[in-house]
Amino acid sequence: MQDLITQLQAIPGNDVLLGNSISEKYQHDWSADAPGMPGAVLRPATTEALSAILRLCHAAGQPVVVQGGLTGLTGGAIPKSGELAINLERLNGIEELDADAMTMTVKAGTPLQTIQEAADAAGFIFPLDLGARGTCNIGGNISTNAGGNQVLRFGMTRALVLGLEAVMADGTVLTSMNKMLKNNAGYDLKHLFIGTEGTLGVVSRAVLRLFPKAASRCTALLALEDFADVTKLLRLLSAKFSGSMSAFEVMWASYFDFITEHVDSVDSPFDAHYPVYVLTELEGSDQEKDAELFMNTLSSAMEDGLVVDALIASSEKDREKFWKIRDGVGEIGAFIKDTANFDISVPISSMAAFLAQVEMELVAAVPGARMLVFGHIADSNLHFMCYTGSHDDVKAMYDVVYKVVGDFGGSVSAEHGIGVQKIGYLQHSRTPAEIALMQNLKQALDPKGILNPGRVIPG
Ligand SMILES: Cc1cc2nc3c(=O)[nH]c(=O)nc-3n(C[C@H](O)[C@H](O)[C@H](O)COP(=O)(O)OP(=O)(O)OC[C@H]3O[C@@H](n4cnc5c(N)ncnc54)[C@H](O)[C@@H]3O)c2cc1C
Repeated sequence: MQDLITQLQAIPGNDVLLGNSISEKYQHDWSADAPGMPGAVLRPATTEALSAILRLCHAAGQPVVVQGGLTGLTGGAIPKSGELAINLERLNGIEELDADAMTMTVKAGTPLQTIQEAADAAGFIFPLDLGARGTCNIGGNISTNAGGNQVLRFGMTRALVLGLEAVMADGTVLTSMNKMLKNNAGYDLKHLFIGTEGTLGVVSRAVLRLFPKAASRCTALLALEDFADVTKLLRLLSAKFSGSMSAFEVMWASYFDFITEHVDSVDSPFDAHYPVYVLTELEGSDQEKDAELFMNTLSSAMEDGLVVDALIASSEKDREKFWKIRDGVGEIGAFIKDTANFDISVPISSMAAFLAQVEMELVAAVPGARMLVFGHIADSNLHFMCYTGSHDDVKAMYDVVYKVVGDFGGSVSAEHGIGVQKIGYLQHSRTPAEIALMQNLKQALDPKGILNPGRVIPG
């Protein structure tokens, strides 16, 4: 190992951290998984340095773990025993903003927020947005195909990447920095590296899509009697707002009441309690016309009994107040420990039946289990937390819920990825043939298995 480290130290543009200089931040992500100490942290500042690192590690059969901003929630970037960490933080910066093509070319270690701010300064938006925006890197977002708050309107990260550069396990640089929306010249190889969580290659640069800024925004917090009305409302708003609905966040009373009762800075703006709540937004180009459409649509939903109470934001302060309830999820850890946290998707048409089945099987298998439920819903994504107060029950809760997800044809990971945590549950959402093809791809692109071993796919 010492020989390899010496060679890695000699690579121009690389920086190597060893021993006590490896701070705690390189040892864990945001999951509850145990931290791990890498043999060294390799910090390339150029694609060439990254390529040279991988060439040497490949020749030596040295396993590596790839790290972006380390905000992942599934343990994928945590070093395992015997691994070296390749951290992309120094491969950082915006190379170009092309206003005509509406693209931005960036290096993989650029923080998401830096990209959002640069787009904003040039009169555009880069619509990927998530709570970890200040710390996560675009390379991590691409590798996890991150979702977030605006998937409904703009799609997941995959839909926002036009071109990509990746370094393969043996150090080969695959440059495909396409700027065009249409390009059917053979296989679109960038998808090998989007959402594959660093198991097939290391993302080094990307060409991202930008969009014009919305000129208007309308926000409302709505109360409904049951989930059947939620799906009817979703259909109504999708039809009326035709592609301009930018948020449709659903919070069940279990979640809404918990947050508004426990989190100091968050209060319910309603005088009464309701079974389910929807936070919705419309973004468009004409504030007056959009506000009229928004009001008229919600008024008719109330007249039809779909919505039983409604609050329309009349200022940015109101909007922030509504979103604080949804974003209050980040505070739950202060009140409940030992939760099983789910990021799953099931078809919207099965969601009510799915939740009823989960509740029934959970209570039978883990007496006293409680659930806090919320989700983006319009993109089929449900988040929820289950807890009893005892750490001993956590694994049983994961086992029960993921089995039911499989029974309903859902996905054990809507947006956070598989990482290490969900590797044992992949078979609930992928067929043996799908998993075998994943393993074949891994074998073809990384025959020595040095890239993020033991993540995403079993075996
Ligand atoms: C408060 C909070 C809110 C969040 N909200 C959301 C959300 O709404 N939606 C969502 O999808 N996720 C969310 N996440 C999860 C997380 O932020 C995303 O998964 C994010 O995309 C990870 O980026 P990162 O740079 O931190 O990657 P890391 O955590 O460093 O790595 C994640 C995975 O990607 C691999 N990887 C990292 N960089 C590269 C690269 N350049 N090339 C190849 N592989 C690489 C790693 O090996 C690891 O497997 C949230 C996390 C937090 C803490």
